[in-house]
Amino acid sequence: MVDRQLAGRGITDERVLAAMRRVPREHFISRRQHGRAYDDGPLPIGCGQTISQPYIVALMLQHLCLTPASRLLEIGTGSGYAAAVAAEIVAEVFTIERHGQLAAQSRERLAQAGYGNLHVRHGNGYRGWPESAPFEAILVSAGSLEVPAELVDQLAPGGRLVIPVGTARYDQRLLRISKSADGEVHTESLDYVAFVPLVDARAVGPSPD
Ligand code: SAH
Repeated sequence: MVDRQLAGRGITDERVLAAMRRVPREHFISRRQHGRAYDDGPLPIGCGQTISQPYIVALMLQHLCLTPASRLLEIGTGSGYAAAVAAEIVAEVFTIERHGQLAAQSRERLAQAGYGNLHVRHGNGYRGWPESAPFEAILVSAGSLEVPAELVDQLAPGGRLVIPVGTARYDQRLLRISKSADGEVHTESLDYVAFVPLVDARAVGPSPD
């Protein structure tokens, strides 16, 4: 998977490649899906959600330019896979999932895997995790209609936010928002992607279950 799907397609960040070699993707999917664990695509994880394609996880993490000193916030824990890969690289990971069932399941899996530097919260992450801000890296693992202002506020000076933005499931652009040391914000448009929707904090309550 790492040689063909990641390095073979231009992922060059050694930290990301090494982390993805270490994390067993089958640990984050149901037994029924084990035969497809290293397939080159997303897989269903229940609650109408998916574990992201390995290449997309690698691409997003590469765009965040992570270091061992970074503290990372993820919105959309899902299976917990991307959070586990990030936890292999950075100092601390904070991840939020709005489906109670997925949050509980990934919390258990991540604890089983022994990650002591990872915090899973059940709730709506649209407005971030202000008590633990600022973060050097923010990863939004679901497609949003816009860039939530609260997430930009919670970015540390010198930090980066990577988020898929677009109006349709198959018409999203991966954006990278960087904050300079003096707090200036710069947006770059990167690749085309397809993510399940990020649920707006205003439209729906904190969590469906
Ligand atoms: N990173 C995940 C991908 C999960 S898919 C993985 O590696 O498996 C995106 C997840 O975002 C879904 O589980 C969905 O329930 C969650 N989500 C969508 N909107 C959310 C919100 N506003 N707050 C928290 N989680 C959200």
